[in-house]
Parts: sequence; C-alpha cells; structure tokens
Amino acid sequence: MFQILSQEDSKNSRARAGILKTEHGKLNTPFFMPVATKGAAKLLTSEELIECGVECIISNALLLYMKPGLEIINSSGGLHKFIGWEKGIFTDSGGFQLLSPQFLIETNNKGAWFRNPFNKSKEFFSPEKCMEVQNSLGADVAMALDDVLHFGKTKEEFSESLKKTMHWMERCKSAHSNDKQLVFGISQGGLFPDLRERSIKQLLELDFDGIALGGLCIGEEREKRDKIVKLCKTKLPQDKPVYLMGVGSGQDLINSIANGVDVFDSCFPTRTARHGMAITSKGNLQIDKGKFSNDLSPIDENCDCFVCKKYSRAFLHHLVSTKEENGGKYLSLHNVYFIQQLVRESREAIVKGYFGEFRKEFLGNFNGKAN
Ligand SMILES: [Zn+2]
Repeated sequence: MFQILSQEDSKNSRARAGILKTEHGKLNTPFFMPVATKGAAKLLTSEELIECGVECIISNALLLYMKPGLEIINSSGGLHKFIGWEKGIFTDSGGFQLLSPQFLIETNNKGAWFRNPFNKSKEFFSPEKCMEVQNSLGADVAMALDDVLHFGKTKEEFSESLKKTMHWMERCKSAHSNDKQLVFGISQGGLFPDLRERSIKQLLELDFDGIALGGLCIGEEREKRDKIVKLCKTKLPQDKPVYLMGVGSGQDLINSIANGVDVFDSCFPTRTARHGMAITSKGNLQIDKGKFSNDLSPIDENCDCFVCKKYSRAFLHHLVSTKEENGGKYLSLHNVYFIQQLVRESREAIVKGYFGEFRKEFLGNFNGKAN
C-alpha cells in the first residue's frame, strides 16, 4: 500500500519519496492536495487542476453529506463520477469544519451536534455516521472523525479533547467497511509532546493505513509546530504514510518535507490568490500593490505555467485591482501550479540525492528577496 523509494537520513533531513497505492492509481509522495471542499477547487476546473499537475484533491464529507446529499452522488456512481475527477480523492471527516462556531453546537463521547448551515436544523454526526458517509462517497482515502480544538487552550482541555478523539478513532476504525478505500487516523494533542505521543501510540494500536497530524497550522508558531511534527515522526514506523493537515506555503512545505511528511493539503494557494497574492520563488507578491502596475515581467520567470508564459504582472495587477474575477483565477492557477512544481521538484531532489541543497537554495531565494 505504501512503499518508500528513497529516504534521507541526516540531522537536517528525513525527507522521503515513495508511492501510495490507491483505488484510483499510484500517488507519488510527497504530494500536495488542493482543497475542493464541495467537489471543486475555487475558481479552477478539474482540467486546470490536471494541467497544474495535481494528482489528488481533498473534499469534505460532512459538507457533501449536507449538500447535495448522498442520494444524488450515489445515483451518479460515487464522488469521482459526480465531480468528474478520475484521480485521487481524500475526504476530510468534518472535524475541522466543526471547529467553526457557525457549525458546532456541542461534542461529547457519542459524537458532534451541529447546526446545518443550509436548513438551520440541529443534526448529529457520530463516528459511525462519518464512516458510513465516506464509505459511500467512495474517496480513495477516508479520514476518521477528530475533535479539533482552537489554538491556545489549556493542557487539561487538550487532554479531554484527545480522549474524545481517540474514542472516536476507535469507533471509526471499527465502522469503516469499504475495502477499496484506505482510512487514516488523526493525531491530536496540540503542542503538548506527551499528548501527541499518547495519540500516536493509540493510533498505531488501531492500525490505520496512514497517520494524519491534525490541529496544527491554526495559529501556532512555525518552530513549535515543526518540533511536534519531528517528535511524532520519531514515534511512527517507516511503513505509515504521514499527512500534515493544513500546510500549503512554500517554506512550510519544503521544511515539512524535510521532516519526512508525505502528504499535504491546504487552501493557502487558492485563498491567497483570491486575495491578490502570488507565490514565487523569490517570495510572495501582493500583485495589487501599485508598484506592479508598470511591471511587464511575468509573476515568476522560473515558472512554466501558462499564466507566467503569457501574462505580465502589470496585466494581472490591472485585473486584480479592478476586481475582474479572472485576476483571482489566473493567480490561483499560477499558485497551484507553483506549489505542485515545488513538491514535484522536491521529490525528484530526494530521489536523486540533492534535496538538502535544493531546500537551502529555495529558502535562501524565498527569504532573501521577499517583496
Ligand atoms: Zn506561473
């Protein structure tokens, strides 16, 4: 199911390249998943995602369950057919959405009560229901239901929440019944090393197909997060793919790849694009700034995407600053392409043994000349 092809083993890098076998093909790790919460990435078509080199996306089981509902998705032959995507799909369980006060009413050992934003009714989502929904959607990888806490809560609160998460994990593992689908467990425990260690130990006992590190990238300092990722990695056996949820900036990706993470997702490339930001090898550019109005160079001269080949910063500045929707679309396309290229090149560098230099050069360029 998961095979490692190449692994660095030094003080500075535990980066590894491998293959995750799924029902819809082999995914080369490390890989990055753009977020397609409702089955489509914002402003980008499936064809454009493929053009960007995307091999796998992540949708949200809870939101798809609420709308359009399982009936129409099943009638069309499952999630892949319904959204017209033949490559890999992960479905997130909904734990992260339940973090939002707009949704959540209460959680306890039984499950989560939430307010359906579409019809305002009070609904209940149990770990069993979460698995039933994901088994039926038929994504390549289902995520178990976790209880996610906001950054900054006390250790007691994280400890209580972790107990709930682990109880849910156990029930999700028992309830999962689609043998064509992999299921990943999620570690919680905030930035507390002993809680993280406990969660990893219990997840390994449950023998999930992969382990996700959840509850990170939600406001904590980068160094503290990296420390937790490194700690979790030391507790995990080699044969488990590791998925760091919510990481999507260039620096965070390359540093997390160095920590031995295999799978990533984030709305960072598309959300920032809709706010006028372009990710480049020399730092992030806020393209609506006046200084780009006369700049006829491409967003990034080292990027092979069609936006960089065809359009200037000045044109994109014009679109974004006059609120033309294609401005956000072109920046989304560039950002997703750029991130895919970065992860693909990182993988190649791991396989060929020069990831250390590749990373150093990327971070040097990125940090040194940020705009
Ligand atoms: Zn580009």
